[in-house]
Amino acid sequence: MTAAGAPDAAGGGQDAPLPPLSAVIARHDLSPRRALGQHFLLDPGLCGKIAQAARARAPAVILEVGPGPGGLTRALLAAGAARVVAVEKDRRCVAALGELAARYPGRLEVVEGDALAFDIARLGPARIGIVANLPYNVGTRLLLRWLERVERIESMTLMFQKEVAARITASGGRDYGGLSVRAQWLCACERLFDVSPRAFVPPPAVVSSVVRLVPRAAPLAPADPAALDAVTRAAFGQRRKMLRRALRSLTPEPQALLRSAGISPEARAETLSVAEFCALARAWSAMRGAEAR
Ligand code: SAM
Repeated sequence: MTAAGAPDAAGGGQDAPLPPLSAVIARHDLSPRRALGQHFLLDPGLCGKIAQAARARAPAVILEVGPGPGGLTRALLAAGAARVVAVEKDRRCVAALGELAARYPGRLEVVEGDALAFDIARLGPARIGIVANLPYNVGTRLLLRWLERVERIESMTLMFQKEVAARITASGGRDYGGLSVRAQWLCACERLFDVSPRAFVPPPAVVSSVVRLVPRAAPLAPADPAALDAVTRAAFGQRRKMLRRALRSLTPEPQALLRSAGISPEARAETLSVAEFCALARAWSAMRGAEAR
């Protein structure tokens, strides 16, 4: 893999170097649009660090969401990615990426469109890598969608607002919630490093963090996904209350539910492990099954 900041990271190592990203932005008039969450990363060192974290050489296909002017895309290709499919909503950026696609023949496909509508099954049967400096307004929705197709994914290396990254990786406390349980049930989740607002053009109001999610071979414990959602929603809906109280929104018999899950009625949502939430979901499914009979 090429070191970040080395000539290959800047220009692909073939022929003349690619123009600097600032020149691409000027030539294609990529004045950042707030509605599209456009905060561009122009530092090849940082883009290289994200590509390294993604182990870009490994998956047969990398899906990049929102390549913008292409800083991270360049780094992924320079790091040896065999094929990058980049989905971008802004037509101006799609045009700007043509030069990069020409530099790496057959390795970069740019798709103009909304990543929320992009079906990853289009990328073939092999498991894919997903890498993105995500637009903050759709980041969580995209992650939840990918978690529904986790069997098709080898790894996700994603930049979020720091606060969202904390919610994904928390194992208790204030940041722990439904998103943490869902993500950690299906993936090993690791917060890798923070990125200062100063690294972006224009700088966002908040610090960002890069998170790596690696899907587990099987979910952490058996549970029906809808039941897991229902119990986490009820438990975290009143996160300061004891579960015997918080779960009243779910059942008139929260104590019986907690007893059959082997969980103390005095426990609070913030102290339950993901495995305990799964036990609660199984008990809830069993209780509903018994009611239905
Ligand atoms: N990857 C580039 C970088 O790091 O410099 C740009 C990242 S910028 C935070 C987010 C990018 O996502 C923008 O280029 C924006 O146009 C694009 N974008 C926003 N919403 C999108 C959507 N729903 N689908 C695809 N791309 C989107």
